[in-house]
Amino acid sequence: MKVVIVGAGIGGLTLALFLHKAKISCEVFEAAPAIRPLGAGLNLLPHATTAFSELELLDRLLERGVETSEVHFYTHHGQFVDGEPRGRFAGYDVPQISIHRADLHEVLLSAARERLGDEAVRLGRVCRSVEQDPERVRVNFADPSGAALPSEEGSVVIACDGIHSVVRKQFHPDDSAPIDHGTTCFRGVTRWKPFLDGATMAYVGTYDTGKLVVYPIRNSIDAEGKQLINWVIEVKKPNDGVRDWNRQVSIEACIEPFVDWRFEWLDIASMLRATDEVLQYPMVDRNPLPFWTRGRVTLLGDAAHPMLPRGSNGAAQAILDARLLAELLATKEPLIALKEYEATRLPATADIVLTNRNRSPDEILRIVEERTGGQPFEQISDVISRGELDEWQSRYKRVAGFERERLPQ
Ligand SMILES: Cc1cc2nc3c(=O)[nH]c(=O)nc-3n(C[C@H](O)[C@H](O)[C@H](O)COP(=O)(O)OP(=O)(O)OC[C@H]3O[C@@H](n4cnc5c(N)ncnc54)[C@H](O)[C@@H]3O)c2cc1C
Repeated sequence: MKVVIVGAGIGGLTLALFLHKAKISCEVFEAAPAIRPLGAGLNLLPHATTAFSELELLDRLLERGVETSEVHFYTHHGQFVDGEPRGRFAGYDVPQISIHRADLHEVLLSAARERLGDEAVRLGRVCRSVEQDPERVRVNFADPSGAALPSEEGSVVIACDGIHSVVRKQFHPDDSAPIDHGTTCFRGVTRWKPFLDGATMAYVGTYDTGKLVVYPIRNSIDAEGKQLINWVIEVKKPNDGVRDWNRQVSIEACIEPFVDWRFEWLDIASMLRATDEVLQYPMVDRNPLPFWTRGRVTLLGDAAHPMLPRGSNGAAQAILDARLLAELLATKEPLIALKEYEATRLPATADIVLTNRNRSPDEILRIVEERTGGQPFEQISDVISRGELDEWQSRYKRVAGFERERLPQ
């Protein structure tokens, strides 16, 4: 069996590594002519790091990233609402890791090249369409200028070609454009002194007050012990239709609600101003699809289930797709494997897509700000009970599949 993988993003490379582990031959075809260190930070929750532990990549990821110790929630006054330990600090067998997407991508790409060979990942190959008959499937390619390239045949094709997937479009020509939910996201990475314990992820504020997520993604980047700090701002403002992961804007485009945010645990206003490069991000998702698989072709990761980047599950769910698909292809006839993969992963990820729209973990801050009318509180227990706080966080872990009891030990 030969698997053709379209797209060498997080999902495509993870799939290649799991297929290699299962001794299934595969090749990866990526549209970009060169791999560049793009993006900002992301968080790998324990379901994702369990998968990377099976691929023996945890040490490499920990060398690059930061092992997250806790998650905290603060109001826009900087008042502590809730917090909990994460990863090994919460008794999981595996760490939670905050890492630059480029570092994660580089770890996956170098592992894929080492294990599968230098030729296993082919760059500058833009998938245009797929064609299949009962025996095999063919992918048609062009180069980045649009000139046709030889097509590739395989037993199955897995489309890991991201939110603008051409294979998804071919299967679902009437699918709407990515859906804008009326917010815009800005991201950046800043060289800054460690805050709190140097390993905490903090959610602060709401759309009405200014909403920010901040966490370190690289340790000791200079002689003063600074870290690379990742931040994400979400503001209520429709996207302007540009859906480019690499679009640079000025900090003035997003800093206004944060100019007075100087908390004892972090001077957010100064940290934001010290950022070299601010990226405006595509804060969009798509509705869950009725199907992903047609014969010998299926979708994986953002091609299948693009979700709003809240709750740290975009990359994680692509990683979980990859692990299950490789396991099924190793044990079942390909057509059955692809169908079983869809039957398990489509409903599970559809739940997360919908939950991320209005019940993501940080929405607890909206509830608190509503109850306090946006004013500082004396004691958080006057505003919300311990039980309600715990239930909110447990619900998201349940939907996203990273409750401690459910992960393999
Ligand atoms: C440049 C970039 C930067 C990103 N930065 C962040 C970030 O900072 N934080 C974050 O949370 N998420 C980021 N994401 C999104 C995140 O990587 C995904 O949401 C998640 O990891 C799911 O992975 P995926 O493999 O499904 O999709 P992606 O990681 O988006 O990978 C899709 C891959 O397919 C390739 N591709 C697209 N079309 C074709 C085609 N026609 N033929 C062949 N290949 C094709 C793309 O070039 C890309 O390499 C970024 C994505 C990209 C592409």
